Amino acid sequence: METNYQVNCPYCWEQIWIEFYPEDGSHQESITDCEVCCNPIRYVVSFGDSHAQVRAEKCN
Ligand SMILES: [Zn+2]
Repeated sequence: METNYQVNCPYCWEQIWIEFYPEDGSHQESITDCEVCCNPIRYVVSFGDSHAQVRAEKCN
């Protein structure tokens, strides 16, 4: 399964690649500052049987 996922920063819409590993759990969250605008982004990932769904949202 893919471990690299592309999302857009919810603040500046820059494309960001982020890595998640299904071994770490079927539902994961992490907060990382955007490298471009430095705002905190919350990444939420859910692993299904054949694909993963990754969301990037503002962390207020
Ligand atoms: Zn940004």
